[in-house]
Amino acid sequence: MQKFSIAIHGGAGTLVKGMMTPKKEKAYKSALQDALNKGYTILKDGGSATKAVEQAVIVLENSHLFNAGKGAVFTAKETHEMDASIMCGKTLNAGAVSLISGIKNPISLAKDVMEKSEHVFLAGKGAMEFAKEHNYQLENEAYFYDELRHDQWLEIRDTDSFQLDHSVKKDSKFGTVGAVACDQNGNIAAATSTGGMTNKKYGRVGDSPMIGAGNYANNKTCAVSCTGSGEFFIRGVVAYDVSCLMEFKNLSVADASEEVIHKRILEIGGDGGLIAVDKNGNIAMPFNTEGMYRASKTSEGNEEILIYK
Ligand code: ASP
Repeated sequence: MQKFSIAIHGGAGTLVKGMMTPKKEKAYKSALQDALNKGYTILKDGGSATKAVEQAVIVLENSHLFNAGKGAVFTAKETHEMDASIMCGKTLNAGAVSLISGIKNPISLAKDVMEKSEHVFLAGKGAMEFAKEHNYQLENEAYFYDELRHDQWLEIRDTDSFQLDHSVKKDSKFGTVGAVACDQNGNIAAATSTGGMTNKKYGRVGDSPMIGAGNYANNKTCAVSCTGSGEFFIRGVVAYDVSCLMEFKNLSVADASEEVIHKRILEIGGDGGLIAVDKNGNIAMPFNTEGMYRASKTSEGNEEILIYK
């Protein structure tokens, strides 16, 4: 049987051991476990990689612990603007949404853009119109309210700075979320969802919804979901760069991912990490920060749930 596997992440950043209480650490690991199980069961039952990554990301979006969906960070206007994207490595179909609000599961809207529209990327008002046409119910602001996230925002709201949710030194909550998977047919897919950066303004969009930057999948090479300083990941075209190193330089998924995270993105000043899988189910999860919430499981029985280096 073809090996199948899944990897997920909940954001990379200044995650230093001892910074979190054991209770919090347990909560994060348990949320990662739930998402991993959800995606893995779909693969085990013969479901597609695309479905597995969407469903795993939904579990993370529904947790207040991560910076996506329910736990999305606050913008400069004290609102939430979320971004998400998904790509199928078999068809190279992709869907993405940006600057949306009130949507409980942005990743499903991205998947609907991929499957139910002629387009790849819908943003702002138009994306919300599309959601309405497809009967999405809107959650009110209270659903997305989280005291810690609000405190993070209060600290910098009168400044010009905007902040990677997972780079604050203090005890805090982290993370853009993502998933990559390889199914029993050797098809791969990637999904990424985020609230972006705390105190962001001017309709700032990061790498997460940009196909090729924060998310990419191609059966020929790999499926990739990124997390980190979006501005750098956009300029580094990071997810596609990993794919290119595999396609044109014949690197393995592990070597290509390492090269991008530990060399190429560092050279331009970017920090963060990524998860990647190839069509043989091999997984890589490199990061150049202190830690990255991450987990993986393969049909060979290997399972990992990790936070620190
Ligand atoms: N890459 C995301 C962004 O720049 C942030 C993150 O990874 O948490 O929007």
